[in-house]
Amino acid sequence: MKRKQQIIHRAINENILTENLTAVGIMDFDGLKKTVTDAYQAFPENFQHTFAVKANALVEVLKALREYGMGAEVASPGELKIALAAGFTTNEIIFDSPAKTLGDLRTCIKNNIAINIDNLQELARIDQLMLEYPNTQSIIGFRVNPQIGGGNISSTSTATATSKFGYALADENNRQALINIYQERPWLKSIHTHSGSQGCALSLMAEGIKVITELAEEINTTVGTQQVTRLDIGGGLPVNFSSEDVTPSFQEYAEVLKSAVPLLFSGKYQVKTEFGRAIAAKNGVIITRVEYTKNSGGRHIATTHAGAQIMTRTAFLPKSWPLRVTGFTCSGVQRTAENSAVVVTDVAGPCCFAGDLICVEKPLPKLTVNDYVMVHDTGGYYFSNHFDYNSLPRIGVYAVSGDNDNLQINCIRRADSLEDVLNKM
Ligand SMILES: *Cc1c(COP(=O)(O)O)cnc(C)c1O
Repeated sequence: MKRKQQIIHRAINENILTENLTAVGIMDFDGLKKTVTDAYQAFPENFQHTFAVKANALVEVLKALREYGMGAEVASPGELKIALAAGFTTNEIIFDSPAKTLGDLRTCIKNNIAINIDNLQELARIDQLMLEYPNTQSIIGFRVNPQIGGGNISSTSTATATSKFGYALADENNRQALINIYQERPWLKSIHTHSGSQGCALSLMAEGIKVITELAEEINTTVGTQQVTRLDIGGGLPVNFSSEDVTPSFQEYAEVLKSAVPLLFSGKYQVKTEFGRAIAAKNGVIITRVEYTKNSGGRHIATTHAGAQIMTRTAFLPKSWPLRVTGFTCSGVQRTAENSAVVVTDVAGPCCFAGDLICVEKPLPKLTVNDYVMVHDTGGYYFSNHFDYNSLPRIGVYAVSGDNDNLQINCIRRADSLEDVLNKM
């Protein structure tokens, strides 16, 4: 918490919270760099890590991740645009959408962007395009659904029997059919799986990766050469939202993978990963101001400016996506049981529906008007969300870097006030 304490002091000293009136998102770039370094140190050299852009689609964040050595995984024209703006070259980008148009596929193949094929209809389109672009450098492979089952959050479980993603490997004789497909197409050089995201156990993820590794071996044996050279094992490393601890670590994941699928660590295959949440989440916080407090039915309620508009998952699925909060006084002193009475609290957002809550029925040191609330682990899939990139999110985003005693803080996305909105009309 020491660094976070420094971050809130700096934000207060530089009037950042006041200027934005409402809420800010802050990314710790030193933290990001350390996280990427941890990922590279946990795995051998044949592993190359890409970042799932949907987890944090801020150009400045992506620029930094590229500098730290990551590639980019994208699934929409908007994400591609953002990745290119951040400096990624086409051969550093993997395009993964399950709904690629013919135009999308042509663009990728023409520009050497790697693609993971979702289904046989998509394959038929690519077969046609390969006649037009026989010399493409695009690394192409199937996204395989190993159908190994889900974790405890259904909306992020991608490897169930009926998942919408990928080619269902365990159905009827699909496995043999896929081996034949690879045998007939020497340009199929990769196999991809993304076994699941938050809520999936490491052992479940490793099981899915084992399935595609064995499939690659079988294809290569059938063909008689190493046609499949790349295994794209997806992202999905879960994040601990309940404390400051980073668990599981990349090291723990690497150990589980190594014992389940030692071949991945032999250097025989180029291994791509597509981490999103595990890179971004713990390196970002939201800081918002308490606008009002009240007591309703015995519950202490603190109304802030951060709710469903930037914490959509938490507001709609609070049991699956609980977030941790810490209160600070307006001068930046952390509220603790020592300096404030602990009361059962709901921390609410500004949206006009009852479920717009950051946390519910939490015993918290009592928050008062003009306090700040820090919402932890929100560096991925929260304020950085690009789905409403152009719809004037009322939240500025800041980058911090440097030593705790000498933090730099810089704006990377401005928040718009009502005044700005009127002036732009
Ligand atoms: C979302 C996604 C990821 C990243 O998932 P995380 O749980 O954030 O690591 C990786 N690959 C694909 C194909 C995805 O859709």
